[in-house]
Amino acid sequence: MSKTKFIFVTGGVASSLGKGIISASIGKLLQSRGYKVTIQKLDPYLNIDPGTLNPYEHGECYVTIDGAETDLDLGHYERFLNTPTTQANNVTTGRIYKNVIEKERRGDFLGKTVQIIPHITDEIKRNIKLVSIKGEFDFVITEIGGTVGDIESLPFIEAVRQMKWEHEGRCLFVHLTFVPFLAASGELKTKPTQHSVKHLLEAGIQPDVLVLRTEKPLSADLKKKVGLFCNVDMDSVVEARDMATIYEVPLAMLEEKLDVTILKKFKMKVGEQPALIPWRTFIDKHKNPKQTIQIALVGKYVELADAYKSIIESFVHAGASLECKVSISLIHSEELTDENVSEKLGNCAGILVAPGFGHRGIEGKFLAIKYAREQLVPFFGICLGMQCAVIEFARNVLGYKQANSTEMSRTTPFPVIDIMQEQKNVSDMGGTMRLGGYPCVLKKRSNAHKIYQADSIIERHRHRYEFNNTYLSEFEQAGMIATGINPETELVEIVEIPTHPWFVGVQFHPEYRSTVVAPHPLFQSFVKASIAFAKQRK
Ligand code: GLN
Repeated sequence: MSKTKFIFVTGGVASSLGKGIISASIGKLLQSRGYKVTIQKLDPYLNIDPGTLNPYEHGECYVTIDGAETDLDLGHYERFLNTPTTQANNVTTGRIYKNVIEKERRGDFLGKTVQIIPHITDEIKRNIKLVSIKGEFDFVITEIGGTVGDIESLPFIEAVRQMKWEHEGRCLFVHLTFVPFLAASGELKTKPTQHSVKHLLEAGIQPDVLVLRTEKPLSADLKKKVGLFCNVDMDSVVEARDMATIYEVPLAMLEEKLDVTILKKFKMKVGEQPALIPWRTFIDKHKNPKQTIQIALVGKYVELADAYKSIIESFVHAGASLECKVSISLIHSEELTDENVSEKLGNCAGILVAPGFGHRGIEGKFLAIKYAREQLVPFFGICLGMQCAVIEFARNVLGYKQANSTEMSRTTPFPVIDIMQEQKNVSDMGGTMRLGGYPCVLKKRSNAHKIYQADSIIERHRHRYEFNNTYLSEFEQAGMIATGINPETELVEIVEIPTHPWFVGVQFHPEYRSTVVAPHPLFQSFVKASIAFAKQRK
């Protein structure tokens, strides 16, 4: 811990400016200069974790290898740094208060009044330091959710202010703000930035670096002016212009020397400018595809693409590796009917049925799967998508018209998907699913085995229901095979239809493991099959 440096990233003026991407970009650049980096997100809401949140609230819930349900920014951190995060990388106000209140009940503060300062702020500081408790990282980048000035994030801001005093020379503040362009006067405006820095100053924090999000280039004069009003030198006023893709942000920050500025402030070795060859190759391929294919993503949260963030990014990584642009049509499963299914899916070279919960839109998912199965369109089912493929097969191939998951119908006579034994007595909703990494043994000569080129894999999970093994032999005789099995519990993790060109359903979430430099093999193989399908259809 003793050498670890702490970089705090705060945001001002407006939300959604891309603090997560700036944090991930700083991490990427420091990592490519040879430093060990991890990124943490502090979320100001009172939920213990985002696991119980509807995707409409904050987008997808990202699951780490150790089974933490976390904010989707952790997905960006992993995709950029290609290193795993854990529960320690995401802490909410809810978790902080829960820990403190539990300590109070245990009697840890006996005799004392428990207060926001010092008890809550101490707990926040403990959680920041916990990420690099053994000094395993040179840098911990901590992104503070929300916008400076919000009531909710005040204890976080106060805690990091204290950290700067307690660990002199080891803490640095990066503040991300927005410089609006007023079309009517043709001017970029710095006042909101000045006000937002004032807010930070009132909280006792002088930012070391200002990153200004902008649509238009910032002039030297404007940077100078911001520096003057906000007590930072010009090198520490960094322009963050809107980019065509989030993956170009690290390169833009390299250009702006954000990493050099940070290292110099810490008086640390800057070294050679990183070449970032694999990263640049990826961007080059991503921006200059040789072909485009259309893939349908069938789900029920399609109004908000963030709900399927990791799946969409996995297609970006896999597509780039194959020099193919994967254009995703988000299809609302509630809108699919017998009459329109071939029209809505007819242009797609592949169909992915998304994860999800509850019965809304479920019948449309069956229609999409039936279409893919019968028309031999490459099909990829993830979690609920895999479960739906099993139900569709039971209904339309095995002839069990009333087959269902007991999640959708408790009284179905054919519960081909059923609640897991370990879940039967669970009453709390938060953090109680089957979560995180579990091993899975792959059947030799299966499509999965060919794709992974491994006998055994570990993938991340988030579910309560499972394939009902009572029906397994019937399914296998009719042509749907279990090709991935958990070696301890016999739980079916992968199903395939070997007579179909590419039909794979997985109980786990491969999308959480795809990164820029390591695209996921299942997504790559699915895109490859979709390219082949598109060619053959022509
Ligand atoms: N609702 C299903 C289950 O709990 C699938 C979950 C998911 O898609 N993540 O098993």
